[in-house]
Amino acid sequence: MKRIAFFPGSFDPFTKGHADIVERGLNLFDEIIIGIGTNTTKKRYFPLDLMTKLIKGAFKDDGRVQVVHYNDLTAKVAREHGANFLLRGLRNTTDFEYENTISQVNRQIVNGLETIFLITSPDLAPISSTIVRELHSFGQDVSQYLPFQLDKPEN
Ligand code: ADP
Repeated sequence: MKRIAFFPGSFDPFTKGHADIVERGLNLFDEIIIGIGTNTTKKRYFPLDLMTKLIKGAFKDDGRVQVVHYNDLTAKVAREHGANFLLRGLRNTTDFEYENTISQVNRQIVNGLETIFLITSPDLAPISSTIVRELHSFGQDVSQYLPFQLDKPEN
């Protein structure tokens, strides 16, 4: 059986921390589907179409990586894409507290859907999408945090 992992997240934006999880995940899985979850009540900072294009561009040379977006229950969407695993990154105990509960729920929603966690590479642990958005909104160059080139915000 093919090992297919669904990597869900807001990815607003997708950072080098996320890219590291995908790259290391490729040592474990045959395919990884990056799922950009959209929440209709939460406005994104980076437009969905732009982020989809940038992530696709970052993995264009690797046919094992796909990018999709969704607006439904993560576990259901993962199953619809034929994934038998969820992939998540863990930076710290705050991530753990949240992930601990959600992974139990996801396994109840889709019987046997296991979540696999990769501990962040230490140099990438401080990177969060929230901080990148904050820096970018004040006109800072955030390229060192991202696996692709992004235009500077217009001031
Ligand atoms: P969500 O809104 O679902 O938390 P994020 O886009 O913030 O989505 O993160 C998606 C996943 O990537 C989560 O499992 C998160 O813990 C992980 N992640 C975020 N930043 C990093 C990082 N710097 N290193 C490793 N994993 C990370």
